[in-house]
Amino acid sequence: MVSRVIPVDPFDLVIFGGTGDLAKRKVIPALFRRYCAGQMPEGARIIGAARSEHDAEEYREFAAESIREFSPGRGCEDGTLEGFLSRLDYVTIDAMGEDGWEELASKMTEDRVRAFYFSVGPGLFGALADKIHAHGMATPEARIVVEKPFGNDLATAKELNATLATHFDEGQIYRIDHYLGKETVQNLMAVRFGNMLFEPLWNSQYVDHIQITVAETVGVGGRGEYYDKSGAMRDMMQNHLMQLLCLIAMEPPARFEPDAVRDEKLKVIRALGDVLPHHLVRGQYDADADHPSYREAVDNPRSKTESYVALKTHINNWRWAGTPFYLRTGKRLKARSSVINVMFKDTPHSIFGEEAGRHANVLSIRLQPNEGITLQVTIKEPGPGGMRLIDVPLDMTFAEALGEEGGDPPDAYERLIMDVIRGNQTLFMRGDEVEAAWAWTDPIIAGWEARGDVPKPYDSGSTGPRDAELLLLRDKREWRGITP
Ligand code: NAD
Repeated sequence: MVSRVIPVDPFDLVIFGGTGDLAKRKVIPALFRRYCAGQMPEGARIIGAARSEHDAEEYREFAAESIREFSPGRGCEDGTLEGFLSRLDYVTIDAMGEDGWEELASKMTEDRVRAFYFSVGPGLFGALADKIHAHGMATPEARIVVEKPFGNDLATAKELNATLATHFDEGQIYRIDHYLGKETVQNLMAVRFGNMLFEPLWNSQYVDHIQITVAETVGVGGRGEYYDKSGAMRDMMQNHLMQLLCLIAMEPPARFEPDAVRDEKLKVIRALGDVLPHHLVRGQYDADADHPSYREAVDNPRSKTESYVALKTHINNWRWAGTPFYLRTGKRLKARSSVINVMFKDTPHSIFGEEAGRHANVLSIRLQPNEGITLQVTIKEPGPGGMRLIDVPLDMTFAEALGEEGGDPPDAYERLIMDVIRGNQTLFMRGDEVEAAWAWTDPIIAGWEARGDVPKPYDSGSTGPRDAELLLLRDKREWRGITP
């Protein structure tokens, strides 16, 4: 299967913060791969814009290095890199001052899609929006792309939405959650709404519960200062896990169109139940032989910020009443693994007797690594010796299923950036979704702050605090393992 490349018209893409970490690791390599795929038409231009003084040539060298480091061996023939780099330009600009803005405006091409990627801290979003507008660049074809964190709570998210809305319509604002750009996430919708097989079973009558795990092996690294003010709830749960929850739980939209999909996601968030204190577990990783503890890493010996959070919640609607959703995410865990497990109920009666064992089907949707979908089905253990049941996987690992000619599927940033250029907002969060997610998150945070809860320590390389195991054991359930 060869991936299809949908042509786009020439565009101008400005990367504010074009010399930063995100631009280097994700945005530039993603653009290069789209260039290699033939999706960057003649005349399309990428303009890096940041505070540091560079000329275009130095910026091309920066881009070349980022591609060599973060996108090595992607099968681009010789000469391709030069072709890509020739599209790059650079403007030294200060979001808070006047430097560079006229120069940037003079580089814009009339009447074409222009995307402004805000790869800078959210404190600069307002200033950038004002300047783009003041210098006549906020044309109807303009789009802005903003990164997380989108606010720190409901009040700041509302403020941010209002700031951006001063100069841009909602249809011009692309709030990125790179989880939504993952192949499997879109496949989740294909599996749910493209097959007759699953949707009739997709409700509390057949689904016992759903687990969503986003586990990382890394610690806070160099982001300590930011992270200690944020924590796992704000940094991961409010956005990434919430988005996954929406896609798994939403009603079928009438069409696969941005607002139809986003309306359904919003309904899920608004139907979320409160999280009771005993349905919430927060943790902080301890040191191991090679790594500092969380508190050492953030240089705050009394930190009460969580590097791990697990919770149980419900979606209060007809489809899901009575089906618990267990969500967990954390750093320095046993393996890097993002997976959604849909745990079906047991058969109502075993005709094989209890000695054959009881087995329930599990549909696992793996987002990373090894993107793919596995369905555990129960069969007879082969051989003589009576009827004993075992689970075997029906496995669809995308890399295998799509074959070698399919090549690597585009990564999330490739897809999302091209969606911005195409003007497709389906995989981006709408302002009201983000606000609703904060409206659910804020009282949970306020609750533990009022109680003065201190996160439970957990071993680096483990599955998290023991209390998170108990959260399910109390319900006579168990987390699926965290495996790579
Ligand atoms: P960074 O500190 O590495 O880079 C910041 C960039 O902004 C630099 O290019 C800098 O020159 C530019 N900049 C700073 N002040 C400026 C000013 N006044 N005017 C013009 N340019 C200015 O940050 P980053 O890690 O690239 O993150 C950028 C944004 O993306 C942040 O909001 C971050 O939370 C978000 N984000 C980053 C990652 C990541 O992997 N790095 C992932 C998700 C979200």
